[in-house]
Amino acid sequence: MNTGKYLRINLSSSEIKPGEVDETIALDFIGGRGYGIRYLYQELKPNVDPLGEDNKLILLSGPLSGTSALAVSRWMAVTKSPLTGAFARSVGGADFGAWLKFAGYEFIIIEGKAEKPVYIHLTEDSCRIHNATELWGKDTRETQQSLGQQYGKNTRCVCIGPAGEKLVKYAGIFSDRRSAGRCGTGAVMGSKNLKAVAINAQRNVSLNDPEAYATLIREQIDTILNNKGYENHKEWGTTGTQDFTNRIGIYPVKNFRYGQLVGRENITAEKYRELRVGDIGCYSCPARCGKVHTVTSGIYKNAHSEGPEYESIWAFTGTIESPNIEASISADQLCDDLGLDTISTGNTIGFAYELYEKGIITGKDTDGLALTWGNHEAMVALIKKIAAREGIGNTLAEGSRGAAKIIGNGAEDYAIQVKGLELPAYEPRGAKSMGYNYATASIGASHCYGYAAQDIFGAIEPRPTNRFEEAENADVVIYNQDETAWKETGIICLFAAGWGWVPDLYGKMLAAVRGIDVYTDNNHLRQTGERIFNLERLFNIRQGLGRQDDTLPRRMLTEPLHTGDAEGEGEIVRHQDEFLDRYYELRGWSKEGLPSAEKLASLNLSGL
Ligand code: SF4
Repeated sequence: MNTGKYLRINLSSSEIKPGEVDETIALDFIGGRGYGIRYLYQELKPNVDPLGEDNKLILLSGPLSGTSALAVSRWMAVTKSPLTGAFARSVGGADFGAWLKFAGYEFIIIEGKAEKPVYIHLTEDSCRIHNATELWGKDTRETQQSLGQQYGKNTRCVCIGPAGEKLVKYAGIFSDRRSAGRCGTGAVMGSKNLKAVAINAQRNVSLNDPEAYATLIREQIDTILNNKGYENHKEWGTTGTQDFTNRIGIYPVKNFRYGQLVGRENITAEKYRELRVGDIGCYSCPARCGKVHTVTSGIYKNAHSEGPEYESIWAFTGTIESPNIEASISADQLCDDLGLDTISTGNTIGFAYELYEKGIITGKDTDGLALTWGNHEAMVALIKKIAAREGIGNTLAEGSRGAAKIIGNGAEDYAIQVKGLELPAYEPRGAKSMGYNYATASIGASHCYGYAAQDIFGAIEPRPTNRFEEAENADVVIYNQDETAWKETGIICLFAAGWGWVPDLYGKMLAAVRGIDVYTDNNHLRQTGERIFNLERLFNIRQGLGRQDDTLPRRMLTEPLHTGDAEGEGEIVRHQDEFLDRYYELRGWSKEGLPSAEKLASLNLSGL
């Protein structure tokens, strides 16, 4: 049975050992995020320092990765987060996932810490650790160019930028111009003195039943290319989502006080379209949904970015109440070059602006930068300071929760985060199933952990929701989280997962690749999602997290949302305790949020 190989690379001892995934693990966890949590849970002791030698970083491809199936070759980083102290999973695009598979591996486990900066070079036949002194200090673009020059055009990399080297708690890992941005995975890589992983390999993957797989791929391509969602996403990516979220009043503005941006007519999809100069995408995906922009005039002239997409558009407009489109492109470019997560960067900057407004920090703390709403030049300056940990940037590099602890004076009331992970661009008070997903997601406030499409776009599976209801929708929050978990066993792009081919075709494709028929049972896929989510919960409990951490920020629970003229005006989150009681009950967890013995037994998790 073809269940997958992995490589264990210890940077302290330089020892490199191959391994093979056990058959039971392959059945119960399938791959991707499933393998990530299964191995991390087994191997990481409680109370490990996320930036210490004992933390591990797992880089994963998916079981279908590298094949010509569409949108299944994304990659994932799994570790213990330095930003949250909880489980971390972060997903990236471009080609790295496919190349990892071409080299012959489902995943690599990186352990220990190198004495000096190093990078790993991997091929089908070898894995070597090299000195990276000359790469250290280079940005993500320069690093990848340099490795490309050394190893040739057929090289694909993941790397960190200066922010990861400086252990900024929300530094990401970058491949091409796409990133596994969230949770500070780049800081973990930096803490190991690991600058990059570069791969050279011939395009080749092994399939259990190539004929059946070829037929299934034809069916998958047909389904996807005939889906309306595909066409729209190919044309716009997510560069127009702000038009919709502003309209319904859930576009967070001024550090999550308002739900509509004044001047939003300057940052519409059409306005970004005017500056678009190209598009980029991931391995074997014709959608190419990354839209490339160049600024043609003004103080940001020649800023050029393979983005911003929706979340980054918001991160550099809504957070500081600036409708300046050029500044958003410049800020996005900076984050990609320096190696920062745009969501946490923008959110933390919005937090700093509010502290400045309230007088909790002043010009003396900011080296004279005036953090006044709308001041986009100060925002761009702050990004550079954060990546370099310079001046106030050193404090903000800890993330909003960490910075609030350092600053004191009530600053924690303005840190808009869950479990330490900054909220993204959907206002919880106007989309409560999304908000409660933030509150309960294993990694903290991530929209990608259980996207509430029912609240946002009126999706009808498993049923429609009223977006202002709370405990009534606990079942939908659980459905979204478990669905995401099993889809991420294949690291399927979550956009593409909505284009009509999962779960039936996914299960059959897995079976054709691995020769394991149980994957064709949709109930098995769904139970796998639940199993993954529960094991992540056990991981977090072992790290000391519990019910007290499943909470939205104080602002959402006590301050009405101001939207101007949209439907959510005056909303707050009223019934968080009732929601948690219902959510835990439906999950089979105790009042404290601990999975019951019966639940663990039903998921084959007893005794792990
Ligand atoms: S839809 Fe976009 S993000 Fe998803 S695989 Fe295709 S190019 Fe990548």
